[in-house]
Amino acid sequence: KEKRQKRPDWLRVKLPIGENYKKVRRLVDEYDLHTICQSGNCPNMGECWGAGTATFMILGNVCTRSCSFCAVKTGRPPEYDENEPERVAEAIALMQVKHAVLTSVNRDELKDRGAEIWHQTVRAIKEKSPDTTIETLIPDVRATWSALERMISAGQEVVSHNMETVPRLYRLVRPQAKYDRSLEQIQRTKDYGKRTKSGIMVGLGETKDEVLATMDDLVEHGCDVMTLGQYLQPTQMHMKVAEFVHPDVFDFYREEGYARGFDFVESGPLVRSSYHAERHL
Ligand code: SF4
Ligand code: SF4
Repeated sequence: KEKRQKRPDWLRVKLPIGENYKKVRRLVDEYDLHTICQSGNCPNMGECWGAGTATFMILGNVCTRSCSFCAVKTGRPPEYDENEPERVAEAIALMQVKHAVLTSVNRDELKDRGAEIWHQTVRAIKEKSPDTTIETLIPDVRATWSALERMISAGQEVVSHNMETVPRLYRLVRPQAKYDRSLEQIQRTKDYGKRTKSGIMVGLGETKDEVLATMDDLVEHGCDVMTLGQYLQPTQMHMKVAEFVHPDVFDFYREEGYARGFDFVESGPLVRSSYHAERHL
């Protein structure tokens, strides 16, 4: 039987303890919400939940896609829950989150790709917590541009869409997505007037040159903020880590990113798209 890959020291994290952590956990359970922190087995839960913040995953917890790095369940999702926007907004108000990050599963089976629920959730949060800023980490709308517009026109401050990896690895990592289509989605989001953000995971077998080329593509398509973090295998069933990228390489990527013109680059082994998101406003 294969042994679990040993993680280097720089990936050690804090244990999840403390009052805030418990409060977040209680609200997530009580309001029957999903978080990508839990679904993605995020190593930063101690820190983020300890600071009273979490990233909510809307539109259920069953995804129509099956990316090889992702621990979210794949299948045919049940009908979506029309009360979810209110519950998310209520939980965020109780948590007194200053900057909320929302994401969702892919709902390829819905004509509007889930855009209406996205829109209503952002509106509900803004109504209950007018001072809370919002980042929406949205899925690939499969070129349904009317859905994109509905998703991003609810008053959120930041719209992110992750490239996840370099184009050569799409078939392996993100088989139902297309590199150019994701770039176009970012460009259209920018053209709509939104602050744009995207991220990739490293350690999947990409080369440095490929990462730099993806940075160039993102800058060219109007991306303002970029995040880079180490891929970690969520379970033995998922894609293996090809490499634990050294922190010095993350520093190199940060410098290269700024040199290429991003407004903000968040780069480090434990960086996730939603990590320190309040800095990306
Ligand atoms: Fe959740 Fe994002 Fe923090 Fe991870 S980095 S715990 S996914 S908010
Ligand atoms: Fe996971 Fe998103 Fe891929 Fe669905 S589309 S499997 S939630 S990464």
